[in-house]
Amino acid sequence: MKKPNYVIPYGTQWIEAGEIAKVVDVLESDWLSPGPQLDKFELAFAKYCGSEFAVAFSSGTAALHGAMFAAGVKSGDEGVTSSFSWVASANCIKYQDGTPIFCDIDSETMNMSPRSLESVLSLKTKVIVPVHFAGVPCPMREINQLASKVGSIVVEDAAHALGSSYEGEKIGNCKYSDMTCFSFHPVKIITTGEGGMVTTNNPTYRDALLRFRTQGVIRNNENIFPDEGPWYFEMDDLGFNYRMTNFQAAIGIEQLNRIEDFLSRRQEIRNEYDIALKDLYAITIPTVPKDCVSSYHLYVIRLDLKHLIYGQKEIFGRLREKGLGVQVHYPPIHLQPYYRRTFGYGSGQLPETEKTYARVISLPIFPKMSRWEVEYVVDVVKSVVNEASR
Ligand SMILES: *Cc1c(COP(=O)(O)O)cnc(C)c1O
Repeated sequence: MKKPNYVIPYGTQWIEAGEIAKVVDVLESDWLSPGPQLDKFELAFAKYCGSEFAVAFSSGTAALHGAMFAAGVKSGDEGVTSSFSWVASANCIKYQDGTPIFCDIDSETMNMSPRSLESVLSLKTKVIVPVHFAGVPCPMREINQLASKVGSIVVEDAAHALGSSYEGEKIGNCKYSDMTCFSFHPVKIITTGEGGMVTTNNPTYRDALLRFRTQGVIRNNENIFPDEGPWYFEMDDLGFNYRMTNFQAAIGIEQLNRIEDFLSRRQEIRNEYDIALKDLYAITIPTVPKDCVSSYHLYVIRLDLKHLIYGQKEIFGRLREKGLGVQVHYPPIHLQPYYRRTFGYGSGQLPETEKTYARVISLPIFPKMSRWEVEYVVDVVKSVVNEASR
């Protein structure tokens, strides 16, 4: 097949006339910062996930930061997360002056391993942040049980997992957690440009999240004493301006309306990849545990290096040369210079994470991908892997 004159990205948004029309409506309305569309988006989102409440933020990172605030993370507290993730999963703990602690992953699912988690838990563990890597749900029942043993709060990083389900129910319903955070960055399942959301069933967390995204200010005069007058507001906590705009929320509503199409298209692509690539003995294709449905935010293949004459870098380069916008998710967080310097982390501490990092490559998968693009990716991956196999 002929190489396209563009790079096929590993992920990208799908915006259509519906989203554009809604943005124009909002721009012509009275509400640019939070307004009626934001309330509507939050309600629809909570309904989709099966949670009581949803609170929107300006990014997924801001959502995680808000959740750490609501969880009460402070100096001296530890937060445990997976190092095999985007840096935001750990940064959010540090933003609140907590210490990020990493546990290792399960080699099969690439998610936080409950056994490794157990080994790092202590009474200092204020929060556990399981990351549903690539959209594959973490073993939430086990994680929740471990959390209750040490009295820690569970905040799911579901940036990859909107539309995924665990034991037949949607991620975000917070059945086994206190809060769940989502991202609406353009590569994620739905987008608002930048944006994020926290779902919860707990009204105290909801109130804290609302306060945090508006400088820590409360205006509800019932809760203020003494009430100095109708203008009066009170700042009890240090918050941020982490609000989502009304026009972003309008995009979010339209995107959420299209989510079933997005998810089923991802499943179709995943099926085609599975069928075409399962017999290549030099790579391992992703699997999903039973009782789980993955959103397939990412399609991550693992190289079986003993069967290959080239390493990850060479194979990655060859795929890129042929126009595949492949990516590696993720360089481990604990090996980032900031984390080495600040916390003294280093290589050898998380063997499974480090081994997995050295063999993963994410192939393009996004709902707008054409049939031709899918076939082309299959063709290229097969030929590059076959050429490199021994
Ligand atoms: C994208 C992402 C985030 C953060 O989301 P932003 O909207 O980019 O701030 C957090 N965690 C993971 C695992 C992500 O992939």
